[in-house]
Amino acid sequence: MLTREDLAKYPFLRKASSFIEGYGLTLRDLAAPEYSGIVRRAVERVRDSIEGRRIVTDWKDPETEILAYPLALAFAYGLKAGWVIRRFATAESKRCYELLKMEDGQRLIEVAEDGFGWRLEQNDVNVEGRRFDFALGVTEYLEVAPQFHSANWKLVNRYLLRGRVHLKQSEVARLLSESVKNKIVKRAAAEEVRRFEVPEAFGLYLEEVRRLVEKKGRFYDEEAPVGLVEEAKPPCIMAIISDLAAGKSLSHMARFTITTFMINVGENVDNVLKLFRSVADFDEGKARYQIEHIAGRIGSRTKYAPPKCDVLRSFGLCVGVNALCERVRHPLQYYKIRAREIARGAVRARGGRKVA
Ligand code: SF4
Repeated sequence: MLTREDLAKYPFLRKASSFIEGYGLTLRDLAAPEYSGIVRRAVERVRDSIEGRRIVTDWKDPETEILAYPLALAFAYGLKAGWVIRRFATAESKRCYELLKMEDGQRLIEVAEDGFGWRLEQNDVNVEGRRFDFALGVTEYLEVAPQFHSANWKLVNRYLLRGRVHLKQSEVARLLSESVKNKIVKRAAAEEVRRFEVPEAFGLYLEEVRRLVEKKGRFYDEEAPVGLVEEAKPPCIMAIISDLAAGKSLSHMARFTITTFMINVGENVDNVLKLFRSVADFDEGKARYQIEHIAGRIGSRTKYAPPKCDVLRSFGLCVGVNALCERVRHPLQYYKIRAREIARGAVRARGGRKVA
């Protein structure tokens, strides 16, 4: 039986929505002064996610926690920046993961059922020295597991019996928390969410967050092109790539910079891994682990950003500065500006008409 505290921990559940409906409040009602605590908590959740801080569940006041979640979601959607939605989804997913991996077995089953319609079975199976706590239908497993790049998640590497995949509790927690993220991100594409505007009545509460979005948006600009634009890479990144191709041994900072840069411009783990193949001490398992860690797929699940130009300068990694370098403070800023210039040039070359 899910309690109010459980709904505060997992406000994405259907039961949490029913609980909220019980109040009969509309979004506009929440702008009234008596609900200011809920609005402030919603703003705090969005701000923490934008800042990359951990969202901590407040146990003292479960009602506020439950009611603040859909409002925070509305704010995240209403800020009209894909990166804000992704950050919010990631922060919520991490928060849930930390709770789910410590959760009581029966509660985990209820969360899986109520949140995603998954039929999770608790068992205690030992296979060749590996202990499993749960079994999940293969179809449900495949809704999420292919998103993870570690070989451990591939179906061929799993213990499968009568159409059910056997899992440890931490793995169930990972699948569920990733589903939380998917649910938030997917919903952003719905027509009514895309057309949604935050009511003016919340304007004052959101002022600070809007300023933050504007400031950080320079680095996470929505209009950054999708897919890698080779010619848009800044000189520092080109220099590291050329050192890698020559098989030179790189400093930790150079490895971190190239990995974070490539991941942040949308390159996948396998392609980043290929860059390191010619390095003398290349160890595929170790390199893959490090790249996945930096991409936020394992470990702390924080996606790291490349260092700023100042930092790269102090490590001697800023090379061959050009005119655009004079205007930027971050290699990703360089990349985005240059990639847009290239895209605009391509449009002009096609006769000034943008091809969708
Ligand atoms: S100024 Fe920045 S972007 Fe340009 S080469 Fe130096 S570190 Fe890279």
